[in-house]
Amino acid sequence: MASQRYIPDTRPSAPERRQGGERRQAQAEAQVRFPSWPEQQVQFCTRYLFWCLAMAFFNLSKGISPAWLTPLQMNAALLTYVGCVTALFIHAGKIHYCPSRFRLAMWLDIAIVAIAVANDPYPLPPSELVFIVVVLGNGMRYGMRIFAEALAGSFAAIILAFILRFTRHGQELSPGLGFLNLFGGIILVYSYILMGRIEKNRNQLERQSRLDPLTGVMNRRALFEGAAPLFQQVERSKSPLTVMFADLDKFKAINDSFGHSTGDQVLRDFAAILQHAVRGYDLVARLGGDEFVLLLPDATLDQAEQTARRIQQAVRDYAAAKKLDFSVSFGLGEAPRHGRDLVDILHRVDMALYQSKSLDRQNGLERVRDETPAPASTASPVIS
Ligand code: GH3
Ligand code: MG
Repeated sequence: MASQRYIPDTRPSAPERRQGGERRQAQAEAQVRFPSWPEQQVQFCTRYLFWCLAMAFFNLSKGISPAWLTPLQMNAALLTYVGCVTALFIHAGKIHYCPSRFRLAMWLDIAIVAIAVANDPYPLPPSELVFIVVVLGNGMRYGMRIFAEALAGSFAAIILAFILRFTRHGQELSPGLGFLNLFGGIILVYSYILMGRIEKNRNQLERQSRLDPLTGVMNRRALFEGAAPLFQQVERSKSPLTVMFADLDKFKAINDSFGHSTGDQVLRDFAAILQHAVRGYDLVARLGGDEFVLLLPDATLDQAEQTARRIQQAVRDYAAAKKLDFSVSFGLGEAPRHGRDLVDILHRVDMALYQSKSLDRQNGLERVRDETPAPASTASPVIS
């Protein structure tokens, strides 16, 4: 087998690729980390704690009063804040994942702390430290995008609060105040850099745990996780979802004749052929051995068959170029017609694949027949 890598061009058409690009962009826009509900509850409790401290700070400290607002106005601002926080808390109890609420709550935090700093009567305002809680509390929970937003928003709010302090009650920038801001700023930027590194490693580990180490396509676990929302979408929109089960023919002979490393290279190249052949948002996974599964959302069985034929041609070209004797067979099925979840439909598609490999069928492709009975149990797919 020649060592040069040869992957035939099986790319989908331009409109298909454009559709995939739009989807990826939508996914990127929705890239906000989702903290669990208990974690969100902790954050709301922290907000209440700091609200209590602010009430005590402005109302119980002897001999101090807000520098700019009247005590009544300051209390009104704090009560408005706690009212909004409570409304958001109730909303969070009903809808746990809501990126616009995460942002709104963060901007409310920034606004109330800016008001507190502007009204803090001390030359070195202790209330400024609460910005650290706001940035870390929001930033570390919701991912780097919101971290950056919290950081930029807090810096802008600090500048505004100090402009108010200097212009309204004629304070001067003392060395102590300068250093307080400098240290605070460094702590926040340093946390952002560290958090960026932690997040990068976390994403890398997460990606690795979802990839098949040999071929780089999704592994079984990632396939089943990725399939669940696609099958839910099928239930909601009634748009088809096609499942393709691919198994190489005579692959074992390649291992036996040329060794395992050649077999491994064939598996890697076959995975690359599959990825070239589908759209950006289709799922390609290696189930194990020489078995691969593809999920094509919004694709009919006819479209899936065209894709399968392109892949078969690419494999023929590849095998000819490498002087190898192997091919690929497919079983095809469509949700919801042939199954309502991946386990269910894989049973049927596996049976179709088995039929496509049988001696009397030479075309290497078989659709699930509509009269094929549904499996009695959906406990686990029967896959070799
Ligand atoms: P058929 O035409 O009926 O599909 O048979 P086949 O020769 O393709 O073999 P089969 O699908 O029954 O079995 C797959 C073989 O793939 C069995 C195993 O030796 C080999 N295999 C499984 N995992 C790996 C791997 O990671 N690397 C390599 N090189 N071979 C593997
Ligand atoms: Mg095989």
